Amino acid sequence: MQSNAVRFSCVGCGICCKGRLIPLTLAEAQQWLTRGDEVAVIVEAFDESNWPRSSEEFAHAKGRSVSVRCGDARINVIAVFAGKALEQCPNLRADNLCGIYDERPLVCRIYPMEINPFIPLRQDNKVCPPEAWESNDILCTDGRANPALEALIHQSRLADNSDATSKVAICAHLGLNVASWKDNALAVYFPPRTNLLEAIDSAIGNSEDHPDYEWLVRVDDPSLNERLAMANLAMAANDSTDYIFHTL
Ligand code: SF4
Ligand code: SF4
Repeated sequence: MQSNAVRFSCVGCGICCKGRLIPLTLAEAQQWLTRGDEVAVIVEAFDESNWPRSSEEFAHAKGRSVSVRCGDARINVIAVFAGKALEQCPNLRADNLCGIYDERPLVCRIYPMEINPFIPLRQDNKVCPPEAWESNDILCTDGRANPALEALIHQSRLADNSDATSKVAICAHLGLNVASWKDNALAVYFPPRTNLLEAIDSAIGNSEDHPDYEWLVRVDDPSLNERLAMANLAMAANDSTDYIFHTL
């Protein structure tokens, strides 16, 4: 059998710690906020028009989502909590090393491997410099991460699933009720740090806190907007300044 090993070793350049939002588990978001740093909330929605209901892609997305009301229909909503590192991560030291190395989030430990099983690892999609790919250390073989990394990826996927209900309930608690449509755009909220921390503190250990909350979907593309409205989804106006709407 042909083996296709990708070799990689981090060179500590710090490039992956700049200009991005860092997806966090609920517990990591709580730690991030407690350190005094900001967390963004990204909300996206989908239904069986994105993938067939019987597909593995649908099952994967469904596991990370919550079924919610939207107009006269039901949709699935995924809430991603992400550490704000739009200029650079607040934990990045002047020497480009991580200031919270022993507590760094799972995604930081996993990068540059992909967590989503449907996104193949591609060197040209990663910001790591060429010398990082000249190592003898094996990152993955035939698309499967080395065992230590595979365990972290598994842990991250489990957290995505187990945190889903609490994260969506926290959105409802904070009044964040507009979702973007998967693969069309991202709706990115920046709730006040203390409000989000209080909501997380009260949600952790209270898994029953999941009100049947009414969601809206925002889509700026006219034909997709019309299709979703015809499916009886409640559509949001496209002039809100409560969140950043980033079209993909
Ligand atoms: S937590 Fe550490 S590894 Fe992760 S982005 Fe920040 S500085 Fe980089
Ligand atoms: S960009 Fe790649 S090589 Fe540079 S610190 Fe991040 S993981 Fe390491």
